[in-house]
Amino acid sequence: MQYYESVLGLIGDTPLVKLGAVTDGAPATVLAKVEYLNPGGSIKDRIAQRMIDEAEASGALRPGGTIVEPTSGNTGVGLAMVAQQRGYKCVFVCPDKVSEDKRNVLKAYGAEVVVCPTAVDPEDPRSYYKVSDRLIDEIEGAWKPDQYSNPANPASHYAQTGPEIWEQTDGRITHLVAGVGTGGTITGIGRYLKEVSGGRVQVVGADPEGSVYSGGTGRPYLVEGVGEDFWPANYDRGLADRIVEVTDAESFAMTRRLAREEGLLVGGSAGMAVVGAVAVAKEASPEDVIVVILPDGGRGYLSKIFNDSWMTEYGFLGASGETTVGEVLA
Ligand code: PMP
Repeated sequence: MQYYESVLGLIGDTPLVKLGAVTDGAPATVLAKVEYLNPGGSIKDRIAQRMIDEAEASGALRPGGTIVEPTSGNTGVGLAMVAQQRGYKCVFVCPDKVSEDKRNVLKAYGAEVVVCPTAVDPEDPRSYYKVSDRLIDEIEGAWKPDQYSNPANPASHYAQTGPEIWEQTDGRITHLVAGVGTGGTITGIGRYLKEVSGGRVQVVGADPEGSVYSGGTGRPYLVEGVGEDFWPANYDRGLADRIVEVTDAESFAMTRRLAREEGLLVGGSAGMAVVGAVAVAKEASPEDVIVVILPDGGRGYLSKIFNDSWMTEYGFLGASGETTVGEVLA
């Protein structure tokens, strides 16, 4: 019989799939790493498992403890799933821009969700960072993974995601393209690939216009899970060779194209990363192999990116139902 002992055995070892139409004839090979095939539906399952393993080993998380984390959803799902298996309680703090669908997923695993306003300073007592700090103090046996500074976040990608990509491409990868949120993905995978290739692999970050990584001030954007208004400890500022700035309109148009032209129903940060990957692919040579990370699936965004009324309301769709950035992407 072939089976895993628990759902946790299903984390990682995600496949690569070649992108076709959305690359608009770019000469290089673009391979997407399909992280929505993780059991919790995103790349964050990997870091959740490792952060909890290390907290158990260090004694920071004890039997019956409560996990408290500010998260835009996916890290919460990963943590809630691992917590369910290991008997921990979870309280998640989310900004209000996170879709209700995503919040309900967290509740489905048995977690509690606290919603905070997006449009306040990180130092404001109502910010989701500050609210989670207060909950840590108030709840007995609380442990905060802190995906922004916990070294187990990039370490999970250095130890697993990076080696997977290297083996899957037979060492032929030339460029890694990933969106940047906490910085864990790009830092962990990027560091591994730089080391194993002797510095040959180029590391490219994709970032929403307005976010600090691409020189912005942190002004609001609508794409979820990526971009920041501060510099997290888990982002290695010396690692990326290039940062590609992507607008919400470009991200959402590409996210819709991935579903319609590649059959890949993914989230907005995946669309954003693919915009970056296609930009790199257009300047690359036919021998180049570009790997782009698709962090999560599209089901959590049906009421936004895949909803024509929402897209029209925010000016992302023209009267004809066409995305308004067709010329930008053409
Ligand atoms: N996309 C989505 C949907 C995410 O939830 C996250 C995590 N915040 C990312 C991309 C970015 O990954 P990282 O935090 O590792 O930089």
